[in-house]
Amino acid sequence: MTKLLIGGEQVESGSKETYEVRNPATGEVVDHAAKGTAKDVMQAIDAAETAFKEWSDVTAEDRGKMLTNACELIKEKSKEIAQLLTLEQGKTLFEANLEIHHLLHGLEFYAGLASKVRGSHVPLPQKNAYGMVIRQPIGLCAGIIPWNFPLTLMGTKLGPALAAGNTIIIKPASTTPLATLLCVEQIQKATYGEGKQQKSLPKGAVNVVTGPGSTVGEELLRNPRIRRIAFTGSTDIGRHVMEVAGREIKRITLELGGSDPMIVMDDANLDLAVKMADIGRFFNCGQMCLGVKRLFLHESIADKFISDLAELLKKKTVGNGMNKESRMGPLHMDYQRKEVEEQVEDAKSRGAKAVIGGERPKGKELDGGFFYLPTLLTDVPDDARITSEECFGPALPVYKFKDLNEAIEKANSSIYGLGSSIWTRNMIHANKAIDKLQAGNVWVNSLHYGYDELPFGGVKASGLGREHGPEALDYYLEPKGVVIVNV
Ligand code: NDP
Repeated sequence: MTKLLIGGEQVESGSKETYEVRNPATGEVVDHAAKGTAKDVMQAIDAAETAFKEWSDVTAEDRGKMLTNACELIKEKSKEIAQLLTLEQGKTLFEANLEIHHLLHGLEFYAGLASKVRGSHVPLPQKNAYGMVIRQPIGLCAGIIPWNFPLTLMGTKLGPALAAGNTIIIKPASTTPLATLLCVEQIQKATYGEGKQQKSLPKGAVNVVTGPGSTVGEELLRNPRIRRIAFTGSTDIGRHVMEVAGREIKRITLELGGSDPMIVMDDANLDLAVKMADIGRFFNCGQMCLGVKRLFLHESIADKFISDLAELLKKKTVGNGMNKESRMGPLHMDYQRKEVEEQVEDAKSRGAKAVIGGERPKGKELDGGFFYLPTLLTDVPDDARITSEECFGPALPVYKFKDLNEAIEKANSSIYGLGSSIWTRNMIHANKAIDKLQAGNVWVNSLHYGYDELPFGGVKASGLGREHGPEALDYYLEPKGVVIVNV
């Protein structure tokens, strides 16, 4: 049974209640987690506020050193963390290890940036007066994390928060608390400084409160002592976060859903584009905010592209993520699978055809899990649910187009605007897509590999603010205007 991590200690939930964490591949119980309450959140707030007094006084260079050491400590347990992640989330071990790699890369990036934060000197229209802008940590932050990438999406919040001198409370998704807890246990042991000067990360600088969004999450949103909310999850809950946290004028960032278009022109490197369409849609069983969710193919290359992609998908072994030969695990929840099934059935009822997939795989060893075959849909009409809604699973609708203007117009017809890509060797086409696609990110002959160096986020219903890049640090710092007059 796991406990909450508050003030550097493992503590039981005040309610003493626990809940089951189940394996999406088998339905078996992996462990029991503490069901935190609003009171537990208040205890975590006390701990994080106390830690803030010490942590915000630590030099920026030492904050960076602590994060570097935290990465070393996570690496020591990476095998165990990856296994827990596969067991609780369902992703393959390969995907779990890649997620840890991304987590570490992100933390190392902010370890390096901690000491690079700059303010500015501002000329003022008064003699002997100096204007300055200094940038200070905000205080107590909260990170609310979804279940699809529990570790990397925790890192995108914890890294810049700590680098900037803040303290943080993490609320993992109810269904994926285990790998997060082990990771944070390691982070809590991190130190900075040499010999006798060596110090530890203050107890309470990072806290984890597991439990339901409706109680633990709500308290994080409502409690005025928390000044900053970083949320990743669905657009519906994102709207709620904005409303509730907005009442306390909290600083918020929202990383929400997406329905990324991938536009393939007739002059693209088609072999590469086929491979990337596979990865872009079916990695993590299609449960990616920035997954390729609508594939637009130029009519002259569409048929060959579809048949090449279908061939690739036929070879994909669907199975338990713990098995080495599995290339795609189950969906994370039964509810998620039903949602994808309904979207596929709706498209079929409107005339779409499943070139491949469109059903659950058969096999006794798969019966207990939430498996679904990789699915490719053609002849998908514009009024199908899978066209207008986000599809958070392994189904890819394909649309043919005659020219780039038509493709861009259709791509932009979504309420979402997270990622987007164009595949072409023609710079005029590439520039037009960069200019016209309504998205927080445009990739040319590439998909987002989670670059920590570049800002990442969405426009329209895909969110607010940015994670990754030096830009993310801005959301964890308050600028303070200072005037000094020499008298
Ligand atoms: P949810 O929005 O349901 O949950 C996200 C987190 O919010 C969970 O920790 C959840 O807790 C918590 N939560 C739920 N209700 C509340 C509440 N009332 N107050 C505060 N917190 C609450 O999303 P999913 O977990 O279903 O994740 C999938 C969605 O996330 C997809 O739509 C996907 O596109 C989006 N996403 C976006 C990303 C991006 O970067 N743009 C990245 C990854 C996912 P609990 O688990 O206890 O319900």
